[in-house]
Amino acid sequence: MKKGNQPAEPYRIKSVEAIKLLSRHERLAKIKQANYNIFKIDSADIYIDLLTDSGTAAMSNNQWAALMLGDESYAGARSFRRFEKVVKDIFRKAFVIPCHQGRVAENIMFSTVLKKGQYVLNNTHFDTTRANTLHKGGIPVDLPCEESKSHEPLPFKGNMDCRKLEEFIREHGAETIAMVIMTVTNNSSGGQPVSMANIHEVSEICQRYKLPFYFDCARFAENCYFIKRDEPGYAGKSIPEIAREMFEACDGVMMSAKKDGLANIGGFIALNDEELYGRLTELLILIEGYRTYGGLAGRDLEVLAVGLQEVMDFDYLDFRIEQVAYFGRKIIEAGMPIIEPTGGHAVFIDAGEFLPHIPPEQFPGQSLVVEFYIEGGIRVVEIGSLMFDSIDEKTGQIIHAPRELVRMALPRRVYTNSHIDYIAETAHSIVNRKDSLPGYKIIKETKFLRHFTCDLDVMVPREEKVKP
Ligand SMILES: *Cc1c(COP(=O)(O)O)cnc(C)c1O
Repeated sequence: MKKGNQPAEPYRIKSVEAIKLLSRHERLAKIKQANYNIFKIDSADIYIDLLTDSGTAAMSNNQWAALMLGDESYAGARSFRRFEKVVKDIFRKAFVIPCHQGRVAENIMFSTVLKKGQYVLNNTHFDTTRANTLHKGGIPVDLPCEESKSHEPLPFKGNMDCRKLEEFIREHGAETIAMVIMTVTNNSSGGQPVSMANIHEVSEICQRYKLPFYFDCARFAENCYFIKRDEPGYAGKSIPEIAREMFEACDGVMMSAKKDGLANIGGFIALNDEELYGRLTELLILIEGYRTYGGLAGRDLEVLAVGLQEVMDFDYLDFRIEQVAYFGRKIIEAGMPIIEPTGGHAVFIDAGEFLPHIPPEQFPGQSLVVEFYIEGGIRVVEIGSLMFDSIDEKTGQIIHAPRELVRMALPRRVYTNSHIDYIAETAHSIVNRKDSLPGYKIIKETKFLRHFTCDLDVMVPREEKVKP
């Protein structure tokens, strides 16, 4: 546990955006009109939006100033040179390929290197990484460490299982594997960090078997902070030093800069292999744009160059990670069970445990999502059976998600601890009437990614008295 005071926001507010809390009566009407699907509610009708930490960061005064320096030349823009220099410096690679977001980096990479039927190994694939692997004919395999399944608040639950990694390589042969990817922090396992020891071990195995080792590093700075705080031997190192050590252990990176780029759009690939750089940029030019802008405006590249440096500021990271931890403690105090420890970018509520009277087929997570909106105008997202139910191909039976979770993602530099206190009070009001929360049924759905668009209805009609 940290000693000393909880840090306060290490910035002050220069520009504000008004947010409005609709009346309870209006909120009930809006959620009903949206058929209980939170994605169908306009942001103007949301008071606090915790749907995602992607592309939602507040820019700094220096980033806003950098916007005006954007060089919008088609080729060889000054803005690209600035961006390229910063990326080379942090990620220790010779070649930089800009693109407009993370999934394009994945598309370009897998379209180029993946042979049909090859495996991609990952601590845990993020959704778009998994989808892009499958789409290009590859087979994604997750190798999370044993500790990731534990309910204990252990550090570095995002690690890869090195024993399983080596077993897999021995069993299937290195030639069947396109690449090994380390996702930092491990998004799909709750933003849990990966230790430097684990990174070195995976790197060493990849070198031994001559396998390309890449990072999916959307939240690299948050991961560096956890290494500094919790891994023996790193307390005295700076965040840029830790980043350097991390990235010198790999062949390349793919990054969605909508997270730790502190920007609203952007992504890139950085690597050392010149021949591969040539092949990747052929496809880049076809689907994104020329090598020196890749689907971004010059001003976006300027913003990223500043954001990628600002995100490594210790005071910023210290507040950021502690704010997420504070948020987690407040939700526990309010009476809801969460996944511990909190990771880098979100608090996950265990809705299955919180609402045992709602079975998975009636979506306990979604019930809680709807309630956060009705009670407080807060938008959170279900990560459970509504999102991840699948059908067993042999038996035709529905397989439910392993856990019924609700994610409350925290945008960077956007909400104050006073907003967090408000969310915790909302949670507490829900706790007081949890037994009355209803289950839901789907009345209309699509075949893929149904959670974005499906319509739902309440299993038992809501009997709440509403004061207009
Ligand atoms: C967000 C994310 C992606 C995809 O990036 P987009 O910018 O949303 O396309 C890939 N990997 C991880 C770990 C992410 O968090």
